[in-house]
Amino acid sequence: MSEQADIPVYEGSCQCGAVRFTARTRLEAPFQCNCSRCRRLNAVMHSVPGDDFVLLGGSEALKTYKFNSHTIAHQFCTQCGIQPFAAGSDGQGNTIHVINVHCLNEPRYDRNAISHFNGADF
Ligand SMILES: [Zn+2]
Repeated sequence: MSEQADIPVYEGSCQCGAVRFTARTRLEAPFQCNCSRCRRLNAVMHSVPGDDFVLLGGSEALKTYKFNSHTIAHQFCTQCGIQPFAAGSDGQGNTIHVINVHCLNEPRYDRNAISHFNGADF
C-alpha cells in the first residue's frame, strides 16, 4: 500500500451491487482494448496494483472467464453479468487488477487521456 494520502479511493460495483470493491488510484492511464472481449464490452479499463485493490464483497457471485493465453482472469458477476474487473500479473509475479472504470462511483478522469491498447494482436 502506498503511503501517499492524496491518492483518491474509488468505490466500485457491478450493476446489481453483489460485487463491491475499492480502488486506490489516480485514473491517469485509462485505456480501451480492441481484443475480442474488450471491444464487445466497450469498457474503459485502468490498471491498479494488487495492494491498492480491495474486494469488499461478492466473491461468491463472481465467476472467472479466461481465453486466449489464459493469463488474465476476467471476473464477472453471475447475477447481473457485468465485468467490474479482471486480475492479471505485471510479468514479475505481482498481481494487477484491471478495473472497469465505468463500474466506479463518480470516476474522475480525462476522456482525452484514454489510450488504445492493441490487445487484438496478442
Ligand atoms: Zn452483479
